[in-house]
Amino acid sequence: SHEIRTPMNAILGFAQVLTRDASLTHRQAEHVRIIIRSGEHLLHLINDILDMSKIEAGRIILNESSFCLHDLLDDLELMFRSRADAKALQLLVERDESVPRYATADEGKLRQVLVNLIGNAVKFMEIGGVAVRVRAESDAGKTVVDGKTLRLVAEVEDSGPGIAAEDIDMIFDAFQQSATGVKAGGTGLGLAISRKFAEMMGGRLTVTSRVGKGSCFRLEVLLAPAEEIAALEKPASRRIT
Ligand code: ADP
Repeated sequence: SHEIRTPMNAILGFAQVLTRDASLTHRQAEHVRIIIRSGEHLLHLINDILDMSKIEAGRIILNESSFCLHDLLDDLELMFRSRADAKALQLLVERDESVPRYATADEGKLRQVLVNLIGNAVKFMEIGGVAVRVRAESDAGKTVVDGKTLRLVAEVEDSGPGIAAEDIDMIFDAFQQSATGVKAGGTGLGLAISRKFAEMMGGRLTVTSRVGKGSCFRLEVLLAPAEEIAALEKPASRRIT
């Protein structure tokens, strides 16, 4: 992981530094942007392949910490807003008041699954909208492990091409894509990783879909409520010199 990622960090890091160089010609600046876009794409593929091989080797562990769930959802909305706008798609992120502000769980894996689901919805849609609905249900009364008394339910619904009944099971397998998926690009790893992460977090990932109407992916994970912690406040971001 280190050997593969370090050179990518150098490529992306220095390309980002270059974008701030005022002496670049218009053409050179465009080339730097292509390096960054391609580098980010490659890093994404590398990360997926590394995740998949870690899952296969049984080496994935949960890294749990307390974090602000509201910030995570705000970040996701911000992250996909411009992509949705660029395709003239509606993006609606609805957070029910049952969603606690602070929680303890593996924030990185939760974010990764949601990024994959929303990313797919935006990627496969040409017209219409994506609705992300998040709520929390109490899991108390059931067998509670590690104080995880909350079940977070996130639904990502799109009005895209939908998935044929015969493809529904297959798309959760590694490297599997429907014909629409093959056309749109990608590796077919995202959902396999996402389902595994959901199961590791005590939940599951399922989908209902109708061809030509759209799909609704439903993620469930278990969370422990957390107290507000001053250290959770995000440090103000500063410009890299
Ligand atoms: P990738 O997006 O890289 O192809 P995924 O594992 O995330 O990999 O998705 C696997 C396949 O599931 C996709 O190629 C596509 O065929 C199908 N799929 C996933 N999300 C959607 C969606 N929102 N609408 C239609 N098809 C989808």
